[in-house]
Amino acid sequence: MKTENLPISIRSEFAQSFETGRIEIQSWDQKERMWRALKAAGLTFCLAIASIFLPLAHFVLVPGFLGATFFVFNFILKRESLLTGGSGSCPCCHFPLQFARGPNRFPISDICPKCRKAFEAELLNS
Ligand SMILES: [Zn+2]
Repeated sequence: MKTENLPISIRSEFAQSFETGRIEIQSWDQKERMWRALKAAGLTFCLAIASIFLPLAHFVLVPGFLGATFFVFNFILKRESLLTGGSGSCPCCHFPLQFARGPNRFPISDICPKCRKAFEAELLNS
């Protein structure tokens, strides 16, 4: 697992200048992704086995957890990196912004919670 703390620029069409911030990105190599996917799929498979013993609910839970096993395995295996958080400030009102955990896709478009103006955050070329 590798964690990087990268600089970003935060721009808005309503502001003349831009602000900078930092963003944290976690990434995994092929072997780590496979291990994570196997762990998560193993957990949902164990839940499917445990739900066999629940009367009536097992008609829904067992096929549901078995389907989830396949979905979770593929989802985690394909995810190479994850945005784990970050911070910056609004280019319009300089209000401190926090970036939530989510997919590693840029630009990040959001709205400032204070001035309600749209902004976009992009990775700065270092
Ligand atoms: Zn603002």
